[in-house]
Amino acid sequence: MKSSFRIILIAFTFVLYSCGVTKNVSTKTVETVKFEVNLLDRSNDTYKVTVTPPTLTDANSIYQFASTAPGTYQVMDIGRYVKHFKATDAEGHELATNQVTTNQFQLTSPEKIAKIEYEISETWDTPVSENKIYLMCGTSIENDHALINGQAVFGYFKDKQNSPITIKLDFPETWSVGTALTKNADSLYYAEDYDKVVDSPILLGNLTKANMNIEGTNVDIYTYSKTGMVTSNQVLESMKNMLLSASGFLNGLPVKNYTFLFHFEDTTNGAWEHSYSSEYIYKEDKWENLEKQVVEVAAHEFFHVVTPLNIHSEIVEQFNFITPVASRHLWLYEGTTEWAAHMMLFRSGLKSTEDYFNTLSRKIMVETKYFNPDLSLEQLSLTSYTKAGQKQYGNIYMKGAIVAGLLDIKILELSNGKRGYVDVINDLAKKYGPDIPFDDATFYSTFVKETYPEIEAFIDDYIVNTKSLPIKTYYNKIGVDYNENTNTFSLNATPTAEQLQLRTKWMAPISI
Ligand SMILES: [Zn+2]
Repeated sequence: MKSSFRIILIAFTFVLYSCGVTKNVSTKTVETVKFEVNLLDRSNDTYKVTVTPPTLTDANSIYQFASTAPGTYQVMDIGRYVKHFKATDAEGHELATNQVTTNQFQLTSPEKIAKIEYEISETWDTPVSENKIYLMCGTSIENDHALINGQAVFGYFKDKQNSPITIKLDFPETWSVGTALTKNADSLYYAEDYDKVVDSPILLGNLTKANMNIEGTNVDIYTYSKTGMVTSNQVLESMKNMLLSASGFLNGLPVKNYTFLFHFEDTTNGAWEHSYSSEYIYKEDKWENLEKQVVEVAAHEFFHVVTPLNIHSEIVEQFNFITPVASRHLWLYEGTTEWAAHMMLFRSGLKSTEDYFNTLSRKIMVETKYFNPDLSLEQLSLTSYTKAGQKQYGNIYMKGAIVAGLLDIKILELSNGKRGYVDVINDLAKKYGPDIPFDDATFYSTFVKETYPEIEAFIDDYIVNTKSLPIKTYYNKIGVDYNENTNTFSLNATPTAEQLQLRTKWMAPISI
C-alpha cells in the first residue's frame, strides 16, 4: 500500500477461470458460496447483498466479516458497516441470527439456511469514530460508479474461507466493470476462495478502458474520472514506461495479467496493491499534473507483486481475517518496495539523478522531522495495528526506504559490485514464490544466509534497533556525496576506481 503524506496538514489522510468440463465441476458447484450484489438499488449508500450458501453444518455457524485485510496494516472491523442481516430457510421463514462480536454473526440453524441477505454501508461516506478505512481499501457507491473492495462487502462462513465463490453483479447497463477477476462459464465472476475476492477489487461505472500487451503481459487499465478529465488512454503510455522499467529491474514481468483501477474524484488518498491489480484514489486533475506522483505510486504498487506477494511469511500466506496479526517484516514489504519503486524509475531514466536525490533528501527530512527516532523498523511493524503504531506507520515509506537503499549499497560493497539488493530480491522470489512462505520468526537469518555474514549486524543495527543511519559513509562508498547540513546529495565528480565500480552497478541503466 502507499498512502499520501501531506506535510502541510501534518496528518495522514493515508493516504476464466472456466470450471471447464471436468469431473470436479459438480463437487465445486455444491461447495460454492454464491453472492449477488444489487447495484441497481443504490439507496442509503448501501450495498444490497444476497448470499446463497452451500449446505452448511454446525461447523459453519458463524458468518465472518473481516477485521483487517492483507497489505493494509490497519484495523477495519467491517462488521461496523453491516445492517439488516437476515437468514431465511427454503420456505422464506426467517432464522435467528445474533451479532456476537463486531465482525461475527452467529447462525442458530446453519443447516436450514437457504439465503442470507444484508446491507452493508459504503465506507467512504459512513462516519466512524475511529479506524477510518483508507479510501483505496474501502467502498464507495455513487450515481455514476461504485467501488468494491472484497473484504468490505463480502464475508465468509466459518471453515469456508477456502470455498470457491461466484459473484453476480446487477448494475446499470451503461456501466462497465474493471477487475482482475474473470468470469466462469455462467458469466459470473469467479474466485477460488475468499482471499482471492479480497485480492481483487472491482471498479464499476462510467469508466474508460485501455489495453496493451507488454512483453507478453496483458495489461488492462480502467479509469473513473469525475468530469472525464483523465482517460485510460492518457494513462496507458505512462504505465507502459513504468512496466518496462519494472521488467528491466526484475528481469521480466512477474505476472501474465495485470489490471490498473484508477479513481479520480475529489480526494487523494493513495493506492493499494493486489496480486494481479492495484487501485488508485487521486483528486481529479489534468493527467500532466498527476502523472509524476501516480507513476511513482504505480511503480510501488506493481513491485508488491514481488513482495509481499512472492516473498512473504506465513502470516500473509494464511491470512487471519478474524484477528489482525502483525508481521515484523514491513521493512521488506513496504520499505524495500518504496526503495525499489524509485530505483527502477531512476535506472530507466524516467526519474533523473537529481530527482532521485531529491526524493531521498525529502524522505530524510520527513523521517527526521515527523517520526519517532526511537521506534525501530521492526517495532513499527509489530505495532502497526495499534493506535500509537498507526501514527508512526508512514515512516515505513521514509526510513524503510532509506534503510533499503543503504542495504543495497552494503550488498554492492560486500559483493565487490557484482550484486545489488534487487539481485537478492529476485533470488528470494525464485526461492519462495506465491505459494511458499518464509518463517516470520527466522527470516532475518535466512536473509543473512542468502547474502553475507555482515548483513546480520546491518539488520540488527538498522532494522531491529535504532542505530543512527550511516548515510554519509555509505553513499561515499559509491561516490555520492551527502552534505548533512543541507541534506543534499550529489555525484562525486572524481570518484576513485573502487567508488566508480560500485556506482556503475548501483545506477545500472535499464533501457526501455
Ligand atoms: Zn505498499
